[in-house]
Amino acid sequence: MSDRHILTAVAWPYANGPRHIGHVSGFGVPSDVFSRYHRMAGDRVLMVSGTDEHGTPITVAADAEGITPRQIADRNNRIIVGDLQSLGLSYDLFTRTTTANHAAVSQEIFLGLLKNGYVFPKTTLGAISPSTGRTLPDRYIEGTCPICGYDGARGDQCDNCGNQLDPIDLINPVSKINGETPKFVEEEHYFLDLPAFTRALGDWLATRKSWRPNVLNFSVNLLEDLKPRSYTRDIDWGVPVPLDGWRDRPDKRIYVWFDAVVGYLSASIEWARRSGDPDAWRQWWQTPESDAYYFMGKDNIVFHSEIWPAQLLGYNGEGDKGGAAGSLGRLNLPTEVVSSEFLTMEGRKFSSSRQIVIYVRDFLARYDADALRYFIAVAGPENQDTDFTWSEFRRRNNDELVAGWGNLVNRSVSMAAKNVGAVPTPGELTDDDRTLLATTSGAFGPIGDLLSRNRQKAAIGEAMRVVGEANKYLSDQAPWKLKEDPARRDTVLHTALQAIKDCNALLTPFLPHSAQQVHELLGGTGTWSVAPRIDEVTDLDDGSPYPIITGDYEQGQAVWASTPLAAPGTPLAPPKPIFTKLDESVVADEIRRLEDDGA
Ligand SMILES: [Zn+2]
Repeated sequence: MSDRHILTAVAWPYANGPRHIGHVSGFGVPSDVFSRYHRMAGDRVLMVSGTDEHGTPITVAADAEGITPRQIADRNNRIIVGDLQSLGLSYDLFTRTTTANHAAVSQEIFLGLLKNGYVFPKTTLGAISPSTGRTLPDRYIEGTCPICGYDGARGDQCDNCGNQLDPIDLINPVSKINGETPKFVEEEHYFLDLPAFTRALGDWLATRKSWRPNVLNFSVNLLEDLKPRSYTRDIDWGVPVPLDGWRDRPDKRIYVWFDAVVGYLSASIEWARRSGDPDAWRQWWQTPESDAYYFMGKDNIVFHSEIWPAQLLGYNGEGDKGGAAGSLGRLNLPTEVVSSEFLTMEGRKFSSSRQIVIYVRDFLARYDADALRYFIAVAGPENQDTDFTWSEFRRRNNDELVAGWGNLVNRSVSMAAKNVGAVPTPGELTDDDRTLLATTSGAFGPIGDLLSRNRQKAAIGEAMRVVGEANKYLSDQAPWKLKEDPARRDTVLHTALQAIKDCNALLTPFLPHSAQQVHELLGGTGTWSVAPRIDEVTDLDDGSPYPIITGDYEQGQAVWASTPLAAPGTPLAPPKPIFTKLDESVVADEIRRLEDDGA
């Protein structure tokens, strides 16, 4: 195992409802492919995330159902944990933002920023109800959006154009509680001094040569217009502001976006505490040679290339005003912000409200996790907005997974099982045999290079090209015609099975579930690729139970190299198909389902 430490920081799914396949194509599958590859290559990976549970949409959903925000968060956290685990996403820790640990770490970052002068109090105009004199939370104020003119914008954001707002910005604001016009009075909020990071962020971005160009350009452009941003909000659901006179106020909380990104750090600290070595997180966050890769959809770039780096720089005392690192010590900035584009559904934008959606759970109830993972890797929104269509999903599944990779495994293992009943004994290799094995064993270098640069579409394309070479070899050598020459037949079958073993390793980051099956079909024992598991835990601090995703990933045998097949004579059984062929009716059924739901 190398000493290279890699933090895989995966965007936190928002807990206002179940996640659909558009979400997991952006943050979920790409981050898992990356982590599994690096673990196979011997690197020390720490993959963390959790559900993002604060903020207005959760409170709005709770109001609509007449239950508490915590009940909404508990319910959706459990659903999301189940979905991500079923998809095989190998989090070292998937936790949540409502833990006491997360609140404590978020407050530590706030205080560190305050001490260094990067968070400052400012008197602003806040809304109160004229009849009661009480603070009106941002979400309870409605009016016309000053940016797009939408007349149902809320005091914290406009759902039409997506911009974040302040209540004072709204045209014709009214209270949603009783329809009265709110009164604006002077009150104090804390602001993050983003302009004080202009130079530090610019210097840092200038060193980020490996980023996808669109992400880097977008991030550099943000620097032209940095404004202080409100770090606290008028809301009763979130992390309390850790200051005297504020801590116990029910109507002031840290803004959800500032606490959510701190989750990468708080989850690492929680993981370390659970591992029995509370300082273990420091190897990923504080050693200069460790790397941190952040995965998200493109709508979240600003929070990962501007807001979170500014929080880290400020905490470190490395913004334009200087300062000293907080009590946790200096924290590493992101190495790379890996952003995906959007997935659409049958030509339309995913929309939970209009039911143009397929939730992860519903998808996995009907299709295999690896079939979805394959589609996302080979045809997902890595570099451009991409459309998910059922006919293309079926075509990729049937033509590539079933007829390409599955068929290679199936016919090779079948012939060996039927003719030999075991891994065959090879004789002397011909040039054709050696050429195939050189192709499969030689693919680890270039495909590994693509994976380390997050060019996953190219990587799986190359792996499937190698699978095609193995299929062609098998057709050319036609071992089924070699009844009269069993020695040559066994050499061909052994060569094919060794090539399959190599291809299976190349595909393991993408297809971890079927990789374990293929490992067993080839006579392998034990665990090849480790599946994540769900543990029910009790919060480290306040005793409330919750489910986490975790796993003992270093127990897997999978390595990023050609490894020898099981010894000749190892019994082989006739295989069952590893992938499921989809009937033509699947496409019509799914489209009808979508249209019925949307009607
Ligand atoms: Zn708007």
